[in-house]
Amino acid sequence: MNQKTYEQADLTTDHAECVQCGTTAEGTPATWTCTIANGTRHHLCDICTRAHLRVIESHLDPVPTR
Ligand SMILES: [Zn+2]
Repeated sequence: MNQKTYEQADLTTDHAECVQCGTTAEGTPATWTCTIANGTRHHLCDICTRAHLRVIESHLDPVPTR
């Protein structure tokens, strides 16, 4: 139930900014990665997602984001 709140918050975001390269995009592109760590939302663009995939997967959040 609480997980839906996070998804709705994502959908209402005006733009996403990549935490790695600073690229911005309208809304949150489906190809981008969105993670929530310590209550802070982080976005990674599709390029950085590919580049940092191993880091992302090894840095699993203690609380599932979906
Ligand atoms: Zn990026």
